[in-house]
Formats: sequence, C-alpha cells, structure tokens
Amino acid sequence: MRYTPDQNRYARPEFFARCGKSGLMLPRISLGFWHNFGDVDSFETARSIVLRAFDLGVTHFDLANNYGPPPGSAEINFGKMLASDLAAYRDELIISTKAGYTMWAGPYGDWGSRKYLLSSLDQSLKRMGLDYVDIFYSHRMDPSTPLEETMGALAHAVKSGKALYAGVSNYNPETTGRAASLLREMGTPLLIHQPKYNMFERTPEKALFSVLVREGISGIVFTPLAQGMLTGRDLGGIPADSRAGHDPRFLKPENITEEKLSRIRRLDALAKARGQSLAQMSLAWVLRQPAVTTALIGASKTSQIEENLGALKNLAFSAEELKTIESILA
Ligand code: NDP
Repeated sequence: MRYTPDQNRYARPEFFARCGKSGLMLPRISLGFWHNFGDVDSFETARSIVLRAFDLGVTHFDLANNYGPPPGSAEINFGKMLASDLAAYRDELIISTKAGYTMWAGPYGDWGSRKYLLSSLDQSLKRMGLDYVDIFYSHRMDPSTPLEETMGALAHAVKSGKALYAGVSNYNPETTGRAASLLREMGTPLLIHQPKYNMFERTPEKALFSVLVREGISGIVFTPLAQGMLTGRDLGGIPADSRAGHDPRFLKPENITEEKLSRIRRLDALAKARGQSLAQMSLAWVLRQPAVTTALIGASKTSQIEENLGALKNLAFSAEELKTIESILA
C-alpha cells in the first residue's frame, strides 16, 4: 500500500535540538540500523518500524557500511524503503553512514585510510541509491593511519558533495579534539561524535562530553538502553524474541547478571514512581547531558518506537531522583 506520512509528524517543535554549533536540528531520539534491518530479518517488520518512526517525527536514520548481517544488507534494505516509501521525503531526512570496521577483503577494506573511506562511501551510496548522505563518519580511530589522512578523507567527502557533514565515532577525547582542529582548518567542521553512553557505560562523562561542549560538537549516543537491558525487558527472564534470546553476538545472556538485574529492578521502580517506563527514564537520563543532542536507539518492534518516544514527555529529573540513580548505579 502506498505510504503517506502522518501530517502531524512535526507538531512538536521541542522534539528537535540543535546539533552542536551548526545549523542542523536533529530529533532528540534517532533510529539506528545496527540490528533488525539485515537480510536475516523480516523486511516488512523493518519497514514498519522505519515508517512508524518517521510518522512520529524521527527524521534521522543511522546506518553503517557493515550493518546487516550480511554486511551491507541494512543499507540495501533501507535503499528499498527509500525507493518504495520515502523518496519524496528525502529532503526531510538525515541519513548517516560510516566506514571504519572490516568491510571487504584485503588491505583497503578496513580502518581509516583515504582509500577505504572514500571507496566505502561510494559503495554505501550505491547500496542506498543515494547521491549523498547527510553525515559520513569515521567509525573508529585508526592508530596506524595519520589522523590528517582520515580527516582529509571526511573533508573530501563533504567537499565533493557526497556527504553534507562529517562525524567521528568511538574516538577518545584527545583524538576528538585533534580531529576537530584538523577539520576546522580544512573548512569542514566536525559536526557530531557517536560514543557509547548509558547508565551502565559512563566513560564519556570523564572527559569526552566536556571536549564536545568546548568544541561545539554534538553528541549522538549509541546503545542508550544498553541493548535493551535498561528497559526492564529481562526482569521476568530473558524473552526468546529479544536480542540476548535469539542473537547473542553482541549481548550474551551471561552478561545479564543477577547483579545487573537487581539494579535494573530498582531503576524500574524509580521510573514507575516518575510515571515512566524504565526505557523512557533511561533515554531521559542520557538526554540530560548538555553534550547530548540525540539518543540513538534500536528497535525490533513498532511498539518499542512508540514507547521510547514517550520519554520526551518527561525529560526533567529532580536532584533527589538523580541522587537515587547514582546510589543504584554506585
Ligand atoms: P539500544 O540500547 O537502544 O537497544 C535497542 C534494543 O533494545 C532494541 O533492538 C530492542 O531489542 C530493545 N528495545 C528497545 N526499546 C525497547 C523497549 N521499549 N522495550 C523493550 N525492549 C526494547 O541500542 P542499540 O544497541 O540497538 O544501538 C542503537 C544504534 O546505535 C544502532 O542501531 C547503531 O545505529 C548505533 N550504534 C553505533 C555503534 C558505533 O560503533 N558507532 C555501535 C553500536 C550501535 P530486542 O527487542 O531485540 O531485544
């Protein structure tokens, strides 16, 4: 059936926030394609998740060359959705992709060389059927390639019109600062940084967030729900249809320890007292950071998108609530 987006999708302007010191606005919650969009997944379910998200105002979709499995298939599937449903709305979308992890055999299909980044970007555009992506990322730091070369490749991608903005992911604070200076000199500001951040993984609080604020770079934090653990999903046992239940490549059942579950139980009680689900409170908690523009979630069902976007109804925390969360996480 022909898709017509919800006419009220932009009814809440507070849904958007400025991306660092740029002109770009991003939705406070963005959707990532790491899981559930590969050829191993149901295309119709994936499509319904994307269209429901867009109906609710999610304009930012985050991909990478290697998302699948198999690698590349998430981009191909998204390309199909663009062609069948979203082509008319291309100018309403912020589409990102990345290169940095192993993608093809030989010395040119991995890490951070100019050769890899620029050929990978061409391949990603082809898979998605696009002329340009909005954001192109270096997916990880490459200790063996001069940073000037990797940043030069990002700047070239922007200057050639194949990307509108440059980003980095998984870069440490010191290298992020250097990357920002290099890109500034090249006339292509570093727009955005994608680190892992959630209640169980707080490394960016130590130094990265202050670098982002200082440099005017936006933070888009991935895995804000700790791959679903911070939704309370596992409190009654790991569901068979959940990530740990059926695809333990990145979230192994043994990582969902009794100790974690007892913290999750207490967080869940606090969320309920706030009138939110734990998923919603976990998203509000990452969004409280001034450095964080958007929480980059995953979803396996449209109902998860609906629930998670409900987080935006209550983003405020009292000092008492924050203290309680600290004591639970301590
Ligand atoms: P999340 O922490 O948001 O976990 C998402 C998963 O949690 C869903 O797939 C679903 O899993 C479960 N879930 C989500 N909402 C709910 C809910 N309301 N109730 C119950 N379960 C829920 O993020 P991801 O780990 O998926 O990562 C998000 C995105 O971040 C990726 O798609 C990617 O774009 C990006 N990313 C970037 C990386 C990088 O190196 N730059 C690395 C990793 C991710 P299920 O239902 O299957 O259990």
